[in-house]
Amino acid sequence: RAKADGRKHERFFTSEMASRIQARHALEADLRLALHSDEFELHYQPLYDLRQQRICGFEALVRWNHPTRGRVPPMEFIPLAEEVGLVVDIGRWVLRKACREAACWPEGIKIAVNVSAIQFTSSNLLADVDEAIAEAAISPARLELEITESVLMENLDDTLPILHALKERGIRISMDDFGTGYSSLSYLSSFPFDKIKIDKSFVCGIAENKEAYAIMHAIILLGDALGMRVTVEGVETAEQKSLLESEECDEIQGYYISPPAPAADVARLLLASRSGSMAKAS
Ligand code: C2E
Ligand code: MG
Ligand code: MG
Ligand code: MG
Repeated sequence: RAKADGRKHERFFTSEMASRIQARHALEADLRLALHSDEFELHYQPLYDLRQQRICGFEALVRWNHPTRGRVPPMEFIPLAEEVGLVVDIGRWVLRKACREAACWPEGIKIAVNVSAIQFTSSNLLADVDEAIAEAAISPARLELEITESVLMENLDDTLPILHALKERGIRISMDDFGTGYSSLSYLSSFPFDKIKIDKSFVCGIAENKEAYAIMHAIILLGDALGMRVTVEGVETAEQKSLLESEECDEIQGYYISPPAPAADVARLLLASRSGSMAKAS
């Protein structure tokens, strides 16, 4: 009996694995066509300055409008794009598009772009960045690149010179999803980041739970002590916002201010933020 069961399982896993591989191949084939078929779009989520109480920038977040599947979330296709090398072309497109769209915004409004580890190791990231900035004719000081700790983890010897070259151009570097990696603290001393973005997993619970609040408080103090700008991601409530206002927190980002929105909404969001009608306790 055990033997028969074993065989049944074997068949089950084999066919499940086969169909998973098939689905992946299909998605990969579609991903190869997506750039040329103009299926990508950027949405923009406000970065909100807590002292000025207004929007100070936007983060570009890529969206894939698949012809039959509908919108595929970045968490589903960015890792695949990284594996098959497509993230270099997609990343270049994102940089150019984001800089071009930001060129239409007021001078003081920054544009943050996520950069994948693969772009550091298998592409000429510096050339891509220079080209995007030149083409859009924006000041490099308006551009922020968001990188996760994995970027650095891959190969510090290769990435550090690139990070320094970017900084020399006046481009700002943010450490994204801070706190989720396993050696965050050691990375803080290996490169002078301009900003840390505290991962959204740390914000939930800060209004209800003493321990969650204590951890958030400590991370903010750490970033501040190192002279880095501190952004908290994933702020969803008025309580969370006002708690962070009493901390050395510079910026927040999250659904409470606004979810990521199409480029056409940026002007409206800026107007609402300047007239103070945004994110008032409702
Ligand atoms: P991320 O860079 O940390 O971006 C923040 C993510 O949190 C976004 O998800 C955003 O929609 C979501 N978010 C914002 N506010 C809230 C909130 O209040 N609550 C909750 N629960 N979530 C919130 P999204 O757009 O699905 O992107 C996921 C990740 O995909 C990004 O995380 C980033 O790592 C990656 N990604 C997105 N666009 C690009 C890109 O152009 N290039 C690369 N390499 N990666 C990208
Ligand atoms: Mg990001
Ligand atoms: Mg993040
Ligand atoms: Mg500070």
